[in-house]
Amino acid sequence: KPRILDDEEGGVLFFSSTISSSSSGYGYASIEKQRLRLPVYKYRTEILYLVEPHGTTIIVGETGSAKTTQIPQYLKEAGWADGGRIIACTQPRRLAVQAVASRVAEEMGVRLGEEVGYTIRFEDLTNSGLTRIKFLTDGVLLREMMDDPLLTKYSVIMVDEAHERSISTDILLGLLKKIQRRRPELRLIISSATIEAKSMAAFFLASKRRRGLEVDEVRPRKEPAILSVEGRGFNVQIHYVEDPVADYVRAAVSTVLSIHDQEPTGDILVFLTGQDDIDAAVKLLTEEAQANGKSSSGLIVLPLYSGLSRVEQDLVFSPTPRGKRKVVISTNIAETSLTLEGIVYVVDSGFSKQRFYNPVSDIENLVVAPISKASARQRAGRAGRLRPGKCYRLYTEEYFLNEMPVQGIPEIQRSNLVSTVIQLKALGIDNILGFDWPASPTPEAMTRALEVLYSLGILDDDAKLTSPVGFQVAEIPLEIITIAAVLSIQSIWISTRAQKELDETKLRFAAAEGDHVTFLNVYQGFLQSGKSSQWCHKNFVNYHAMKKVIEIREQLKRIALRIGIVLKSCEKDLLAVRKAVTAGFFANACRLEAYSHNGMYKTIRGSQEVYIHPSSVLFRVNPKWVIYHSLVSTDRQYMRNVMTIDPSWLTEAAPHFFRHQRTDPIGH
Ligand code: ADP
Ligand code: MG
Repeated sequence: KPRILDDEEGGVLFFSSTISSSSSGYGYASIEKQRLRLPVYKYRTEILYLVEPHGTTIIVGETGSAKTTQIPQYLKEAGWADGGRIIACTQPRRLAVQAVASRVAEEMGVRLGEEVGYTIRFEDLTNSGLTRIKFLTDGVLLREMMDDPLLTKYSVIMVDEAHERSISTDILLGLLKKIQRRRPELRLIISSATIEAKSMAAFFLASKRRRGLEVDEVRPRKEPAILSVEGRGFNVQIHYVEDPVADYVRAAVSTVLSIHDQEPTGDILVFLTGQDDIDAAVKLLTEEAQANGKSSSGLIVLPLYSGLSRVEQDLVFSPTPRGKRKVVISTNIAETSLTLEGIVYVVDSGFSKQRFYNPVSDIENLVVAPISKASARQRAGRAGRLRPGKCYRLYTEEYFLNEMPVQGIPEIQRSNLVSTVIQLKALGIDNILGFDWPASPTPEAMTRALEVLYSLGILDDDAKLTSPVGFQVAEIPLEIITIAAVLSIQSIWISTRAQKELDETKLRFAAAEGDHVTFLNVYQGFLQSGKSSQWCHKNFVNYHAMKKVIEIREQLKRIALRIGIVLKSCEKDLLAVRKAVTAGFFANACRLEAYSHNGMYKTIRGSQEVYIHPSSVLFRVNPKWVIYHSLVSTDRQYMRNVMTIDPSWLTEAAPHFFRHQRTDPIGH
């Protein structure tokens, strides 16, 4: 049973509850009235006053204080979008971009995609003539710099959620700092939920010499303004478990059930890590609630992760019907990016999915890893929006106090840098090691990335991008874009209770060559069915995912056309397709261990132990040579989306890369 502890955090997280009771009438006021009550409203004049003379304004405010939805509107009202200019607001997450854009359009009473629009990868809902406020992922804004290096159409760029320190945010901050010198009229707003304002201000203030990494001078320039917005959270009581829990999904489910049993009304927000454990929890909770009969009726269980359809997203944000209790089971997207009204209880697993990269083994992984204290505080804070709330931490107090890391590590320091390097090179940043990063990546990771890019033929001997787009490809098999489209979304299968049936159904499409070719079969089947949703249902294929695949495929086709790549059907010559995949993913080649009885592979690159993921059609087939698309690690390192190869293709695809292996892994 969780133990109740009062005030152990001594005012770090918890706010006074002197807020007038007007906030409880929140849901009934008109949108215009609601806007006046948001915490940020009190600072409206001050914000506008600061932005006017300062190149950079740093705004720190609790999640829910209305930074994201209001500040762009204030700027527009003050004229920053006049004369055809645009106010941009970036988010690290796609789902957040969609959700806040639609909220702001609603508040302004305009149609989404006109005055207020958004752009995420593969989806552009803006109108070049009309859009004045544009929400976009930081990744998309980086991409826009390819065509418009100084981002001239924007008058103000608000880099939101800066505390998340995603790779794209960090690159963006470095580049915006450069742009600022060339465009003194540009205004930057850096906003975030937690305090790191001083170091951020120092970053914008400091200047680096062209050569060398050390900060050697501080140029006299206008210091960034810093504004802290007071939130209006209520007290949150923290409960810890007495002993560590063995299975956080089960522990979360039983905690939800006991809250539902014993606590007064109020919605519950559960933090798990990703689609897999969230779906498992939703299923378990639904089953348990049914088994419990009456006592658990009235629970509305909803998942929240990126890749949800519009309808599913809307359910999460829609008000809870009277007499019901909503349970939202979420990734850390609900930690600071999105605010859900009505949450009174938070259940915190203490974990999130994080990217980790080991430059020695050259392996990048999505790992379920412990969150930081800063994250834990944010999560708890979600319970105090409506009235005093409770947070149930599924870890011990001792663990929180003594073992949990204080802050997370910026993503740039735990990622494979291949695409980062391409991106910077393409933007003309040649001295990547000398780039002005908010946090520098490790030299080992940088070296690895340069090596792979050289082997891919993307960089030449002078470490310059080879023309025209890095690749010397004139023609690629059309099928590759279908595969790329499928791989770019989380899963095309419906997550289902009937795992066995799903496995059997998959066999209808399974190809001996592996998952990539299997995807082609599914795609063919979908087309032949006339893109039918019934066909999808029957085959455990996610209809929305397939529609997305078609959309993304069309976009990739347009991009290929634009950059002069000829797409040609392989005419059933799967060899061409497989070789093309190998050409891009040779660095992920693995060989089955000769005497392995449990399907253990070793990566060619770093001799790391890896296994084929159970979701792969090659699971238990264990061909001798494979290439994987990505790794996930749970108890072991699992390869997701696996294809068989002939080892001779490896030296053909990347002679330099394999010739310089210390040992002779390919065996000739
Ligand atoms: P911040 O960016 O400071 O975390 P937001 O601007 O996202 O805060 O949210 C401010 C307020 O707007 C919150 O009280 C939230 O309830 C409301 N809000 C934001 N997005 C939505 C939405 N999609 N639907 C309903 N209310 C929303
Ligand atoms: Mg926000």
